[in-house]
Amino acid sequence: MIGRRQLLTGAAALAASRFIAAAQAAPANRAPRLTHDPFALGVASGEPTSDGFVLWTRAVGLTEDVRLGYEIASDENFRAIVRSGRVDAPAGRGGAVHLEVPGLPPGRPYFYRFHLGDAVSRVGRTATVAVNPERLRLALTSCQHWEHGWFSAYRDMIEQGVDAVLQVGDYIYEKSFGSGPNVRAFGTPDPQTLGDYRARHALYRTDPDLAAAHAAMPFIVALDDHEVENDYAGVHGGVTADPAAFLRRRTAAWQAYFEHMPLGPSTWRRGGSLQLFRRFRWGRLATVHMLDTRQYRSVQACSDEKRGGQVVRDCDAVADPGATMLGARQEAWLDDGLARERGNWSLVAQQTLFSRLALPQGPDARWSDMWDGYEAARSRALGSLGRPTVRNAVVLGGDVHSFWLNNVLADFEDPRSKIVASEVVTSCLASRNGPAALFDGARSRNPHIRHHDNAHAGYALLDVVPERIDVDLRAVASLVEPAARCFSLERRSIEAGRPGFA
Ligand code: FE
Ligand code: CA
Repeated sequence: MIGRRQLLTGAAALAASRFIAAAQAAPANRAPRLTHDPFALGVASGEPTSDGFVLWTRAVGLTEDVRLGYEIASDENFRAIVRSGRVDAPAGRGGAVHLEVPGLPPGRPYFYRFHLGDAVSRVGRTATVAVNPERLRLALTSCQHWEHGWFSAYRDMIEQGVDAVLQVGDYIYEKSFGSGPNVRAFGTPDPQTLGDYRARHALYRTDPDLAAAHAAMPFIVALDDHEVENDYAGVHGGVTADPAAFLRRRTAAWQAYFEHMPLGPSTWRRGGSLQLFRRFRWGRLATVHMLDTRQYRSVQACSDEKRGGQVVRDCDAVADPGATMLGARQEAWLDDGLARERGNWSLVAQQTLFSRLALPQGPDARWSDMWDGYEAARSRALGSLGRPTVRNAVVLGGDVHSFWLNNVLADFEDPRSKIVASEVVTSCLASRNGPAALFDGARSRNPHIRHHDNAHAGYALLDVVPERIDVDLRAVASLVEPAARCFSLERRSIEAGRPGFA
């Protein structure tokens, strides 16, 4: 704890020295007199392309619209400034900025910072994507519970030299749960309003490891359920029964999520929806198809008496062809994108476990919130993944608080059917592991599951080259020890042209 405090003090001192330099150098801009740090939540970047990215900050503690200054440089000391200007930070958006920066040369690192009056933000680092990179290092992460553990895994991602972080959901948690040691408390009730969700996101960004990660690496994000409430499905609350009350809560939560993420300005749509499914390309090496499996899905099968995800048995509705995980528009977008894909690796990033998971609770028992509860939708997705034109499909996911390496079969009912893709599921970054009652013995019931660990938190590191992807499951040694480091729990490779794990 003392170490962290000193770290913060050091960072504050550094910020203060930059502040003096900037106040002398920057032209006077009309801004309110500040008695606090408007950039206390830090900076972030995302949406990397070969010619640009999105830069984010959120000016806090202000009640009026302000304009922030920004600078982008090719060097850390801001001697070679390549862009500078002003950007609106509207009070109606909580002072959030989503600055789209196009037109830069490919494959270069950039440094950026924001100004307001005398105040200057910390410096962030990001990069444009190379025209045809030969290597790509991705961190796959999900499920970070403020109370359950320190976010130490982010320090490891920075040390590993990750090009981009794929955060596939449960970025915040709306509630406390489970028993076990907590390292800190939310200190506020479960969020319901926009103000509540803003405060929850702002609390998260005071974590020094999370703030440092956002300043060091671009994040590519999509949300899951806990950014709103547990196990909601589209317009159906997982907890809140009243439909209108749920939609109010969802809109508030989504707006706060948008306001805190380095997403493009057009992500937040009129009427309160989020356009989150989108593609990222690293030349011919790899494409990430980022999916949104929460916003458009049908309600969980056989959830009439109890809301949300649960073990269902002999539930015919899991095979309902009318049920959807992605919605018709996103399904067509994925199918079309995979069909046209010319990249070497097609990485399909989404929220939860994709492969079949037979449970100990009976022959057809399944967890209704995962793809197992949307059998027909999964069959359609398998059809898209299995097209002969698709080269090297890898499904990426999270949500289940345990690590999984799976062979994605064309037909999970036939263990000898073709392997159409590999699946990498990351554990929680900081939370309790998954339910032993569901996951114990998973490999013996599911031969397509090639590795499973339900005893560690961490993230999955993917080192992508044309011939292979080296997967390194990075486990954090302890969630309660603030200085804990990560280690390799398991290393496996996916060979190009040969889907699956041995
Ligand atoms: Fe989770
Ligand atoms: Ca989840």
